[in-house]
Amino acid sequence: MLTPTHVNSYYADSANDKSMRPKLNGEQRFDVCVIGAGFTGISTALSLVEKGKKVVVLEEKKIGFGASGRNGGQIVNSFNRDIDYITNSYGQDIGEKMAAMAFSGQALIRHRVAKYNIECDLKSGNVFAACNPRQFEALKAKKALWEANGHDELTLLTASTIQDHIGTERYAGGLLDPRGGHIQPLNLVLGEARAFESLGGVIYEDSKVIRIEKGKPAKIITAEGAIVADTVVVAGNAYMFGLIPDVEKKAMPCGTQIIATEPLPESLQKQLLPTDHCVEDGNYMLDYYRLSGDGRLIYGGGTTYGAREPAKIESVIGPKMLKTYPMLKDVKIDFAWQGNFLLTMMRMPQVGKIGDNLYYSQGYSGHGVTNAHLMGEILADAIEGDSSRFDVFASMPQYPFPGGRLLRVPYTVLGSLYYRFRDTFGV
Ligand SMILES: Cc1cc2nc3c(=O)[nH]c(=O)nc-3n(C[C@H](O)[C@H](O)[C@H](O)COP(=O)(O)OP(=O)(O)OC[C@H]3O[C@@H](n4cnc5c(N)ncnc54)[C@H](O)[C@@H]3O)c2cc1C
Repeated sequence: MLTPTHVNSYYADSANDKSMRPKLNGEQRFDVCVIGAGFTGISTALSLVEKGKKVVVLEEKKIGFGASGRNGGQIVNSFNRDIDYITNSYGQDIGEKMAAMAFSGQALIRHRVAKYNIECDLKSGNVFAACNPRQFEALKAKKALWEANGHDELTLLTASTIQDHIGTERYAGGLLDPRGGHIQPLNLVLGEARAFESLGGVIYEDSKVIRIEKGKPAKIITAEGAIVADTVVVAGNAYMFGLIPDVEKKAMPCGTQIIATEPLPESLQKQLLPTDHCVEDGNYMLDYYRLSGDGRLIYGGGTTYGAREPAKIESVIGPKMLKTYPMLKDVKIDFAWQGNFLLTMMRMPQVGKIGDNLYYSQGYSGHGVTNAHLMGEILADAIEGDSSRFDVFASMPQYPFPGGRLLRVPYTVLGSLYYRFRDTFGV
């Protein structure tokens, strides 16, 4: 079973658009230069051209090369830390303002998919699955919390009713959110990039930014060209190395791995995920999985602090998948890949401005499908003069991990042991 035929992403293989954009050559002038063509960068760029701005995106590799083109494709609401934690940590006012944005990212994705006719296998519904009674109690609390903040479509699932959605006896219960869902993430960002271009936006690929000369206007330099722009947005997330060190050192790149099975017979798909929702469990090192548009099981899990890649991804993720679905023991794994996401100390996005025209947003801590989209809209509003939502994010403190670059990985591994122990023994 565990011999993938491709050690690359299934998404790259099933991309709707495999064409390459040109490389930047020479010097050009734009209103805004966005660095990085993932969800953050493309979402910001699209929101800005919708407002009539002249925008260029510079991408080191290809559109969606980073986490946005490799992720689990799960549309999950709220933030890594939920509204109650935010309120307790940062006060009632910030808590209320964050709560008002907690379900906005998914709405923006659905709006864009419909408006621009983006083919990305969008499906509705995600299930949070509880691996033990403690996690089930936490889901009951989540339901009450989200309902108190205006989400009235949630359904609590018992150990028995969760099996209407997930064909396993593993879980103690769950929570169904029909406002969640899933997508082929690379095709989403590619579709948004096409929409951006259709409105006059310009994308250069294979155009790594090597230096930013701050000022008004700023100059953004690549190996063979430069952009002069009034405003710069840095959206390199976990794939950026040394461009703005003061911001990068505040967060830690982490790896997580995914496998994709061969396309499964329809009867087996119905047995695994009868309602075609996506699933994430409640463990600290969570498993997340769903069916692809062509009926593969896409199963992810594992976190490597510091983004170290395991030698054999399938031997890390395969056993997790078989624990949930032992009936897949003879199924072929077609693809296995890793992507990097950016973890922050407080598990909240780090959003800010350097000087008065260089913006950054990073570190969604695993919740980036919705949050990176939302941040794009928020950054565009801020650049256009409405910084009300930007200021809420920017007001939260951005602490670095203890130990600096050398010791942050071992310290974080140590810190996670307690949670792993609880998950392993279900306490
Ligand atoms: C395997 C995996 C599974 C995940 N699953 C989920 C999930 O199911 N649901 C969820 O909500 N979140 C998930 N996430 C997190 C989510 O994918 C990310 O938070 C989100 O995609 C981040 O988007 P981004 O645009 O900020 O960064 P990225 O998508 O990483 O984009 C950054 C881009 O910047 C470019 N870049 C970097 N430096 C430069 C430079 N100097 N010059 C030019 N370009 C540069 C990179 O090449 C890259 O394309 C997952 C992440 C991974 C890795």
